[in-house]
Amino acid sequence: TFKAIRIDKAEKGTTAALAPFDEAELMEGDVTVRVEWSTLNYKDGLAVTGKAPVVRRFPMIAGIDFAGTVEQSSNPQWKAGDKVVCNGWGMGETHLGAYAEKARVKGDWLVRLPESISTRDAMAIGTAGYTAMLSVLALEKYDLTPSNGPIVVTGAAGGVGSVAIAVLSKLGYHVIASTGRTSEADYLKDLGAAEVIDRAELSGPAKPLAKECWAGGIDSVGSTTLANILSMTKYRGAVAACGLAAGMDLPSSVAPFILRGVCLLGIDSVMCPIELRKIAWSRLASDLDRGKLTEITHEIGLDEVIAAGAKILAGQVRGRIVVKIL
Ligand code: NAP
Repeated sequence: TFKAIRIDKAEKGTTAALAPFDEAELMEGDVTVRVEWSTLNYKDGLAVTGKAPVVRRFPMIAGIDFAGTVEQSSNPQWKAGDKVVCNGWGMGETHLGAYAEKARVKGDWLVRLPESISTRDAMAIGTAGYTAMLSVLALEKYDLTPSNGPIVVTGAAGGVGSVAIAVLSKLGYHVIASTGRTSEADYLKDLGAAEVIDRAELSGPAKPLAKECWAGGIDSVGSTTLANILSMTKYRGAVAACGLAAGMDLPSSVAPFILRGVCLLGIDSVMCPIELRKIAWSRLASDLDRGKLTEITHEIGLDEVIAAGAKILAGQVRGRIVVKIL
């Protein structure tokens, strides 16, 4: 057996506990990985608290991403000793997840860690940071460059937001950080934000069109915030939508799309094709300042994950949390 954060079905909802897990219960897969580090994402918070039906198989091991070392492989792409990172693909939802000393997965899900990224750094980046990079790649694919104008980042002090700010500023963008924690203004400026605005400015009902303030955005908040961002985006700008921290709804209109040619870019990290994942991780190796990553990261043990899960849902986690497994 090994230690894991186990989710079981209860009479009402689910229970989560740090408990022994039998290796024989691991699901099918052609690669077994010794998990060294995991992390805490918003979705992990939903899973360990049972606040949303993220988990769809019981018993489940929670945790949507890990980094570690291959222990055993019958997949020709991998051999014992390889350093790998894995996220999404239903881990922690339909496939046993990352908060465990071992994981068995499909070799096709794994990405080889770039030499310069340690397994701990990989999880300091985690799904949140990799999603921030997918968002940057989407804006670039749309041909946005720093010369087009500022980029707004919402949920700025959160995981996706913090990494997005660090990467965009390194690439030369003028970054406008929107946060509910204006007390974190110094933190956000250290990360590279040129301006910090109060998220209350973006949370009321959106007009169809408003003053053009930015060429693009990375939004992890959704709802009226995304609607306001769209209505404030410059002619032919683009917004990457990757989150729902304030809600799933989008009370917007088609005005930004048909009158300003604004483009809404959808970002999904879970089923993202492997080739795009490899690009994202190699860009994280080159375009994310590792010193900044260290600044935004703090470490917890497996026994602290459940309490931290409640905190991330309450919007009380700054930056990224790494979870030490071994
Ligand atoms: P996080 O660390 O909790 O960051 C979310 C941030 O959103 C918070 O720190 C807070 O930032 C802001 N926020 C929270 N509640 C809010 C509210 N009611 N109204 C306005 N802003 C609010 O979470 P994360 O791991 O970065 O994830 C962010 C979002 O992206 C989540 O919705 C997550 O599910 C989603 N996500 C999606 C994908 C994908 O594949 N599309 C991948 C990863 C994450 P401030 O305090 O700075 O305002």
